[in-house]
Amino acid sequence: MIYLDNAATTPVVPAALEAAWPWLTSEFGNPSSTHEMGLSAKNALDHARTSIATWMDCPASDLVFTSGGTEGDNLAITGLALANPRGKHIISAKTEHEAVLETLDFLERVHGFEISWLNVDSQGNINLGDLERALRPDTSLVTLMLANNEIGTTHPLPGIIEAAHAVGALVHTDAVQAAGWFDLRVGKNGTLVSGIDALTISGHKLGAPKGSGVTYIRGRLAVEPLLHGGGQEFGRRSGTENVAWAVALATAISALPETELESARVRTLRDEFIAHVLATVPQAQLTGNPVERHPAIASFTFSGLNGETLLLELEQRGVIVSSGSACAAGSNDPSHVLIACGIEADIAQTSVRFSISHSTTADELSPAASALADAVASVSGLGN
Ligand code: PLP
Repeated sequence: MIYLDNAATTPVVPAALEAAWPWLTSEFGNPSSTHEMGLSAKNALDHARTSIATWMDCPASDLVFTSGGTEGDNLAITGLALANPRGKHIISAKTEHEAVLETLDFLERVHGFEISWLNVDSQGNINLGDLERALRPDTSLVTLMLANNEIGTTHPLPGIIEAAHAVGALVHTDAVQAAGWFDLRVGKNGTLVSGIDALTISGHKLGAPKGSGVTYIRGRLAVEPLLHGGGQEFGRRSGTENVAWAVALATAISALPETELESARVRTLRDEFIAHVLATVPQAQLTGNPVERHPAIASFTFSGLNGETLLLELEQRGVIVSSGSACAAGSNDPSHVLIACGIEADIAQTSVRFSISHSTTADELSPAASALADAVASVSGLGN
């Protein structure tokens, strides 16, 4: 099997599971308890937080452990928007993940916020001039993802942060697909996220278990919590902490390869793969920005073919991938991201996304591209 659906989820790295095990079994104490077992659990939680804070170059107290990307996006966006007295205006784009889109819909419906949607071009790029024009004295938040989960296009975060901060608005980014592929040091000058106010990470995209995650919220910015209770996580997220998953997340992050070298390695593999596909499949059209994109995501439309059928044909050939709309839980609707890019619904329905992992090699990608050509030929009625 050649698994190229790593943007959907990744296997748990053995070191993360091993590190988590004691905190589920012999060392099962509650970190809020004052006895030895509780203190031991609290220490493990503190260590995990400090380790991730070093990786992100931020104070450990700026990190909130969550249940993943969806919760992290909800917490950062709702939490900052409701607690920010500047006003009820938020700026985003329709290419965001549902976790952001639905949170914004909630704020609009239930709390009377007004959302300005930035236009994206056919590759999913926003225009910084549009953002500058959309910013208002009552804009509390700009939320734009780092790298798109379907088409891979990245947003120009340094310019976004500069423009928003110039008028006093906060910036959140959904970095769920970015962890391990981009430098996420928020405290270091020159990274894409330096100086950002909030950033969401999900564990299951980087070798930690599903249901693990961490969200950065800068300094002592006021956050209205989603979960009310015992005041854990600095009052930002109540509930007995999931020590094992926090430890697993920190361990998986520590096990990530060095970002710059690994991104360069995979970018080369991805570009060879894209070239192979475009050369052998006449119907293939790459989606997203060809240059400013996620190193590990290559997504195509196949005019005239059915994306879901293609997916099954690929699976029969041992290649596991997603259609662009995989996140819409089994729905056959065309991807909202491609629709936002102005791609016709019937073309959008033909999309297939290939997403590479840290362990993927050229020896897997070349047969995967050949399998795709074979599958397309078969679906088009030209093959065997
Ligand atoms: N944001 C993006 C960009 C994603 O790709 C995903 C998951 O696919 C999420 C948020 C949601 O993350 P989780 O599955 O951890 O809730």
